[in-house]
Amino acid sequence: MSYFRAIDPFPLESAEHNRLHEFYARLGAGKLSTTRCGGCGRTAWPPRVFCPECGSDAFTWAELPGEGVVHGFTVQETGLPAGFDGPRVFAIVKVDGHRVFTILVTADPSRVQIGQRVRLMPLRVTDDAKGQPRWLPAFTPA
Ligand SMILES: [Zn+2]
Repeated sequence: MSYFRAIDPFPLESAEHNRLHEFYARLGAGKLSTTRCGGCGRTAWPPRVFCPECGSDAFTWAELPGEGVVHGFTVQETGLPAGFDGPRVFAIVKVDGHRVFTILVTADPSRVQIGQRVRLMPLRVTDDAKGQPRWLPAFTPA
């Protein structure tokens, strides 16, 4: 089993493995969310269980907008990690002030532009070893 984990490029998202399981469950339901610190009220990206600003480990979930703007991107044609089809557009999308590292799907790589509006389109990736679905944040041209 450890061999399979070694070649699995995706996070273990289930509740038994990940305190941020809810992030992935919400993503699977089509919503982008993150943690809001219970101490200072700041939202974080990526979601985290410990606030580097005030040291609190209390948090609640906050929904982020389903749209953002391309802040930067790169097109990877070859040497993609196992499980990814190419060419793949990796991007930083600004969402509500947060910079979200993500994938642009169904985008013609030659037409992607900085400043372009994109909307959330979660990407279902390989199920985990127990057959539970897994999701990554992804966006598509709005
Ligand atoms: Zn805080």
